[in-house]
Amino acid sequence: MDEADVEGDLVSILFTEEQIQTRLEELAAEIEKDYQGKEILLVGVLRGAVMVMADLARHFGRHVEMDWMAISSYGSGTKSSGVVRILKDLDTDITNRHVLVVEDIIDTGLTLSWLVSNLTSRGPASVEICTLLRKPDALQMTVEVRYVGYDIPNEFVVGYGLDYAERYRNLRCVGTLAPHVYS
Ligand code: 5GP
Repeated sequence: MDEADVEGDLVSILFTEEQIQTRLEELAAEIEKDYQGKEILLVGVLRGAVMVMADLARHFGRHVEMDWMAISSYGSGTKSSGVVRILKDLDTDITNRHVLVVEDIIDTGLTLSWLVSNLTSRGPASVEICTLLRKPDALQMTVEVRYVGYDIPNEFVVGYGLDYAERYRNLRCVGTLAPHVYS
């Protein structure tokens, strides 16, 4: 759906469908260059990263494998719980594999720090992170994020996989949710 379908729910549109695709294409080109001669295993973090994964993967001009993990993060509110739990683990053995974690958004970085140390303990050849969006607080993280689509202000955003109470994931753009929707 488009912004017109959720009229009044967005304060502003941060990125249009076209802007998102352009940036993902650039990131895919950069990743391809960095991983020349190496097999890539993309690990998507459910459910938010579904759209990023689908579009990023299709921008590659080479084979990539894909697997998924589901971990608990926000529930249905707008604040990070800090509690991380594996809801669905990988089906792939990542020993000696080059793992690229694909994320929708990094806010506090709590979820990702936990995920990276969990994956690292499994003996991969490498673990890097690609995220479409990053908020300012994430800059204080100890984990380095190699590929960032866009840095955004500290606001609650929805669309392109990102939900509020499981809604707005199928919005084509990314926008800032109006406070009246969640207050
Ligand atoms: P962190 O642990 O980095 O604080 O939170 C990461 C997760 O929180 C993301 O994967 C995403 O599910 C959720 N999240 C963080 N910021 C936002 C936001 O602005 N909008 C939505 N819809 N989810 C967010």
